[in-house]
Amino acid sequence: MNQNPAQDVRPWEQPFWKPAPGKAVVFCYLLLIHVLAIIGLILFPVPSWPILAASLSFAALGGLGATICYHRMLAHRTLKLNKVLEHLLVFWAMLNGTGSPASWVAYHRLHHSRTDTPGDISSPKQGGFWWAHLRWLYQSARADRPKWCPELDRGAYKVWTFAEGPVILLSLFCGFVFSWQAFFWLGAIRLVYSLHMQCLVNSLTHLGDAEEGDSSQNVWWLGPLQLTSWGENWHGNHHSSPGSARLGWHWWQVDIGWYCICLMERVGLASNVKRPKLGPY
Ligand SMILES: [Zn+2]
Ligand SMILES: [Zn+2]
Repeated sequence: MNQNPAQDVRPWEQPFWKPAPGKAVVFCYLLLIHVLAIIGLILFPVPSWPILAASLSFAALGGLGATICYHRMLAHRTLKLNKVLEHLLVFWAMLNGTGSPASWVAYHRLHHSRTDTPGDISSPKQGGFWWAHLRWLYQSARADRPKWCPELDRGAYKVWTFAEGPVILLSLFCGFVFSWQAFFWLGAIRLVYSLHMQCLVNSLTHLGDAEEGDSSQNVWWLGPLQLTSWGENWHGNHHSSPGSARLGWHWWQVDIGWYCICLMERVGLASNVKRPKLGPY
């Protein structure tokens, strides 16, 4: 007898073009940024150096916001951050299309609690690669925020939830102030790149060998590609020790997010930093 209502739905069996109720806006957003990115790449295949540098900087800051603030701090509470820095990182993550803190953390805690079972919202073992990569974003039911992250469903975090639409519009159109080339590269092209680099953590790093249950794995070559989530490619380590702020455990497992945390700790901007219990440290 099925104990989990999520198992009865099996949303990955829906046609891929059918968004879940209330998620048509997510589907339209994903379509829009892909269409604009393709047009941008046709019109301006080679950006100027300043525009490329600005786009990569936005992507890098957004990636650090997602990995340090959303993932390691807000979802897993593996460190504390200076409040000003915390909200700056939230802004950069949202500007990178990562969504509001409450939305991200609710999905993520649900993912950890039911990893790679039918109740997991984004498992490639259940719904296949494209389900885990993109489709779950617009075809799954929203994770219950009051249940999974009640502390982020109020106060300043509630404001971020309301700001999600305006911030993504700002993100998409900010380059327009400078030029058409900046519009496409700082906007849709950067957003599509950052989206796929983050989505690979849900899809690729959960295609490990485990017959059933947690299939998370480390994927070393994703690191250099993944400017937007430095350290997140050591996802097998992370599932083994989710209470650790450090994701790369060996000297050769490059984890830029961790190096930044060490620096912040050194200058007093981060505290209560949790080290891994498993592995060599
Ligand atoms: Zn996690
Ligand atoms: Zn995972």
